[in-house]
Amino acid sequence: MATCPTCGNKGLGLKVFGCSTCNRPGCVRCLAIPVGLSFPDSEGRQATAYSCSWDCFERAVRYQMSRGQTVSPWGEGYVFMGRILTGEAAWRVNRFHVENLVVAGRYEDAARLYEKLGMWKEAGDMRARSRQQVVTQVHVDMNALLDQLHRLGLAATYTCPTCRSPLSITGDTRPDALTRCAYCGSMLRQTDIVDAVTRVLGGR
Ligand SMILES: [Zn+2]
Ligand SMILES: [Zn+2]
Ligand SMILES: [Zn+2]
Repeated sequence: MATCPTCGNKGLGLKVFGCSTCNRPGCVRCLAIPVGLSFPDSEGRQATAYSCSWDCFERAVRYQMSRGQTVSPWGEGYVFMGRILTGEAAWRVNRFHVENLVVAGRYEDAARLYEKLGMWKEAGDMRARSRQQVVTQVHVDMNALLDQLHRLGLAATYTCPTCRSPLSITGDTRPDALTRCAYCGSMLRQTDIVDAVTRVLGGR
């Protein structure tokens, strides 16, 4: 008769094994949360790893992630720490992973992952942040480009796609003067203007 040192469960041939995330010994009754499968061995067998609680599992995942471990897609599922995660474990690991993506400013990747997690509102928020990020980057690029025009004494011409008026861009042009066409007032695509200026700078 074997006895589980953690929960006191008794049974003939009761197997005592360890929590895969904290190593605490336990049995089928107290280590009941399947968190992952090993990769198949040569005969296709996969060992299941169990944890004593989701708390324990998540603590281990956070710790490993803080040390640079990352989750990667594998077939339909995900692998973390050399194990193929079970459905719920994968969901929990990805919840942490997506937080890291946000911290890293990878908003589009975060939006896609939030969608996979079924967290639509968060996905939408990330898309909004991602768009904001692009606007900021273009703005910074524009300032740098106008600086270069100024230094080189060059001018670029951009044709308004709506009214076909030629807009001249020089080093003295203010970036906000380039948001709308001076003739017809329609919004201008910042990326197109960046392209036009870049062509002039590149063609010298
Ligand atoms: Zn544990
Ligand atoms: Zn037990
Ligand atoms: Zn126009």
